[in-house]
Amino acid sequence: MNFDELKLAPAILKAVREQGYETPTPIQAQAIPAVLEGHDLLGGAQTGTGKTAAFTLPLLHKLTMSRSANNKFGGTGVRALVLTPTRELAAQVEESVRTYGKYLQLSSTVIFGGVGMNPQIDRLKRGVDILVATPGRLLDLQQQGMLDLSTVQMLVLDEADRMLDMGFIHDVRKVLALVPKEKQSLLFSATFSDEIRELAAGLLRDPQHIQV
Ligand code: AMP
Repeated sequence: MNFDELKLAPAILKAVREQGYETPTPIQAQAIPAVLEGHDLLGGAQTGTGKTAAFTLPLLHKLTMSRSANNKFGGTGVRALVLTPTRELAAQVEESVRTYGKYLQLSSTVIFGGVGMNPQIDRLKRGVDILVATPGRLLDLQQQGMLDLSTVQMLVLDEADRMLDMGFIHDVRKVLALVPKEKQSLLFSATFSDEIRELAAGLLRDPQHIQV
């Protein structure tokens, strides 16, 4: 299979080609069509398998094909939320969003703890289509009324097992309660404990299972 068969927008394929990628990795070949078709997804994958592009590419495609909404501050409402366990991963994922979305008119930002809140608040008020965040800081900002998650259409939990190992399960559940019920959800994890399965069962609707 090659990328052209995946029915992604030409502007996305151009950015992918510029990265020098020739063929989709196994998780990309399975996940991209499933996400484009609107399915929820349960993905078993480690880092290094190309899982970031596996969810970022179809996410960008879907957002670029649908209309944006406004947040309560008059900026662009968050349409896709990606939760990650660490700030390093959050920064890396947002960098990928920028790289693959460089020819699209979509905005993104990254939110994590350990740094000042004010620049993050200013950025959120102006509005973003795609928000990549760690759960703790996301909740802090939400509780301060600085973040409106009512416009989220797509949700990704990346490295869900690490999120649980790091003690973020309560925060993750709180975030899930703040996003609309009606949305497309993707959950990626390297391992599947009972706790992950339970989280997935509560979040995902009739998901496609992908294991690489
Ligand atoms: P990830 O598993 O998302 O952390 O990706 C691992 C590495 O694989 C990253 O450095 C990507 O740039 C690279 N990568 C992702 N997809 C492809 C592809 N289809 N072909 C070659 N490299 C890729």
